[in-house]
Amino acid sequence: ALAIGLILATVITYLSILWHRFSMSYGQQIQRAINHKEFIPYYQPIIDSTTDKLVGCEVLMRWKRHHGELVPPAEYIPLVESTGQIIEMTFDMVDKMVADINHEKQLKVPIFFSINIVPAHLLDDQLLLFCQDLITNHRLGHHRLSLEITERFPIADLDVARAMLLRFFELGIDLKLDDAGTGYGSFSYIEKLGVSTIKIDKMFVDTIGVNNNFKAKTIEAIIAFSQESGLRMIAEGVETQAQVDYLAAKKVNYIQGFFYSKPLPAEEFFDQYGN
Ligand code: C2E
Ligand code: CA
Ligand code: CA
Ligand code: CA
Repeated sequence: ALAIGLILATVITYLSILWHRFSMSYGQQIQRAINHKEFIPYYQPIIDSTTDKLVGCEVLMRWKRHHGELVPPAEYIPLVESTGQIIEMTFDMVDKMVADINHEKQLKVPIFFSINIVPAHLLDDQLLLFCQDLITNHRLGHHRLSLEITERFPIADLDVARAMLLRFFELGIDLKLDDAGTGYGSFSYIEKLGVSTIKIDKMFVDTIGVNNNFKAKTIEAIIAFSQESGLRMIAEGVETQAQVDYLAAKKVNYIQGFFYSKPLPAEEFFDQYGN
């Protein structure tokens, strides 16, 4: 009787999962997941190309559904960016990041934690207030906060954005231009915005070693421009030793990619780089 009870309970659980999955629209499923705080941070190491040491990490969102399935961001990020739900989700994710920093193993050295922000969110006072609280209450310990602003969306008013970025700078928060070279940015736009770092997109890293290719010339141009403008560089999506060698020879400061590590769940990341 016990076994039959267990089997029945399991069957009922699965039926209810299926029922929820198919009776709710995707938007409703996401709202439910937000209410249940199912969005969590994963951490991808960023490594100094000259010392091979950890200098920071990118905080990447994962949807961990109640039965454990992990949904990649490409499936839901475009939707929640357009509805504005991404704002609340980001705050929740950063709260979890703060808890991880304080409750997992302590990292040996201070690093930066880099969060993805959509341009619309950047111009909203809520984000500045949220960051102000993190900094003034020392909720990150000796670590630093950094924001990645994607170039995939246009920024309506560059002067307003620049003024806002200055207020983040004053808090000691560093700004990075994400997906550089793939979107609306131009060299003059990057200079106007006043970011400290550009992230060289995987699309360009993929062209390293490919001969006679227009894009191969593009990565050279991005690197030359960054160096002349005194911008730091992070190369993304680095998967091979040949790419690491090229980037180190070109003095690209930092490297991020599967060559070193995939994005990791909190426990693995802090265990690996902690005391
Ligand atoms: P992104 O900001 O360009 O993030 C880098 C993506 O490249 C991540 O995908 C990462 O897992 C992947 N990646 C890193 N190294 C390698 C590599 O060596 N090879 C390959 N093939 N891929 C690599 P992920 O985590 O799936 O995120 C996809 C996109 O979703 C991100 O692209 C970002 O635009 C967005 N996203 C993720 N988390 C957030 C978030 O919290 N807020 C917002 N607004 N967007 C987010
Ligand atoms: Ca990013
Ligand atoms: Ca990127
Ligand atoms: Ca990218």
